[in-house]
Amino acid sequence: MKPDPIAECSQCARPFMRRTTLHRVCSPRCAAKSVREQRKAEKADFKRRQEAAKPRSQWLKEAQSAFNAFIRTRDQHQPCICCGQWSSGESRGGDWDAGHYRSTGSAPHMRFDERNCHRQLKRCNRYGAGRAVDYRIGLIARIGLAAVEAIEADQTLRKYTSDDLRAIRDDYRARLKANKWA
Ligand SMILES: [Zn+2]
Ligand SMILES: [Zn+2]
Repeated sequence: MKPDPIAECSQCARPFMRRTTLHRVCSPRCAAKSVREQRKAEKADFKRRQEAAKPRSQWLKEAQSAFNAFIRTRDQHQPCICCGQWSSGESRGGDWDAGHYRSTGSAPHMRFDERNCHRQLKRCNRYGAGRAVDYRIGLIARIGLAAVEAIEADQTLRKYTSDDLRAIRDDYRARLKANKWA
């Protein structure tokens, strides 16, 4: 079958003289653009397949790390929740953690509760067993006794599917970005 000699460029929609049925763009410029678009589509497709293969544990990790990064930025103008001190700015990986009042180990259902998580010096969070007593005092000062008691009494089970975790991750990434620009 002979190709229709006048065809529309798949990139810019301009009519051009077609030589074969495989000829779909009007110019080298549109050909390069078409290649770029194809590569982009392939990359997106690869990412989609990679995400589909991700185990739930990986989604959990990514969601938690996005949540924690958001908390550290949210509290950037606040001192450590438990000791009221500021960072000395000496440690290389940064001095701050997002410290959970009820830990993700013993209360995993509270892992994404924003009232339950505050910026905390690493030395307090990691080496002082979270300094639970001081944390509680600091927490009451920030959110009030009623909210602290609500956190302590909360045993509501929360189940997160991979899709939930992806949504949580993306939400906190977006909010982190918004915070950084604020
Ligand atoms: Zn064109
Ligand atoms: Zn502290």
